[in-house]
Amino acid sequence: MATDPDSPSPASTSGVRWFEQTPEPLVPEPRQSTAPDGLWVRCPGCQAILFRQVLDENLGVCPTCQHHHRWDSLARLKHLVDEGSFERHDADILPVDPLGFVDGKPYIQRLAATQNRLGEPDAYVAGSATIATIPVEIGTFHFAFMGGSMGSVVGELITRQIERAITRKVPCIIISASGGARMQEGIFSLMQMAKTSAALARLRDDAKMPYISLLTDPTTGGVAASFAMLGDVILAEPNALIGFAGPRVIRETIRQELPPGFQTSQYLLDHGLVDQIVPRAHLRETLGKLLRVLLPSS
Ligand SMILES: [Zn+2]
Repeated sequence: MATDPDSPSPASTSGVRWFEQTPEPLVPEPRQSTAPDGLWVRCPGCQAILFRQVLDENLGVCPTCQHHHRWDSLARLKHLVDEGSFERHDADILPVDPLGFVDGKPYIQRLAATQNRLGEPDAYVAGSATIATIPVEIGTFHFAFMGGSMGSVVGELITRQIERAITRKVPCIIISASGGARMQEGIFSLMQMAKTSAALARLRDDAKMPYISLLTDPTTGGVAASFAMLGDVILAEPNALIGFAGPRVIRETIRQELPPGFQTSQYLLDHGLVDQIVPRAHLRETLGKLLRVLLPSS
């Protein structure tokens, strides 16, 4: 499954049923330095101790070494769109547990605990807004919500976002930060890859409107393998982890050491998979310029 390609293979566990073991997550838990609580933060880029308020005021970017810390998705949305222009949609769509899935604890309990902790129904927020006065449909992942994993709700919200863009004939922007498909929803989460990709094809063919994909740290699994890589323009933040499977499983499969910087945004830019790396402070301006260039002149 896309969320967990680094879990132990059956051959490596000497007869132990591999699915009973605790899987190693593809995307590590958020580093301590980027935890939402606490007054001080250690920067993983330069090891400096930063006052959280200073970090927040600098858009989550270390003022010393420019390391881009993971950033609150709602703060990012607020920063990118024109002030007061964001109108949220579909916040009333709630996840269900179609498979009765239980791993460490029942999925339904895991959902409830995360919803209570974050005050969010699921891992995606979408709405209408303007950027540089241009109307757009925009949405962003909540990485803090179960690793930004894509279940049925995330896929449905993204599809509805794209369909609103088609109906309104406006550009679509998706900001990814995800470990991939949500394993607790099995095939229901995998089918979101096809569903969202089909909607994007209609945006291109029927509405002829641009889709901008912004990849942030991390963008992996089924999200990287579907709409995140289908942008007419694909932007990435500096030093974001971007890839499908985790580096360990790739290394063991091909039995070779991986090149330095593998699966970073810079590596993907060098190999033609990303169009531009944009520092966070320049994103709003870059999006405004891109939208003006990409929109058909009326
Ligand atoms: Zn730093």
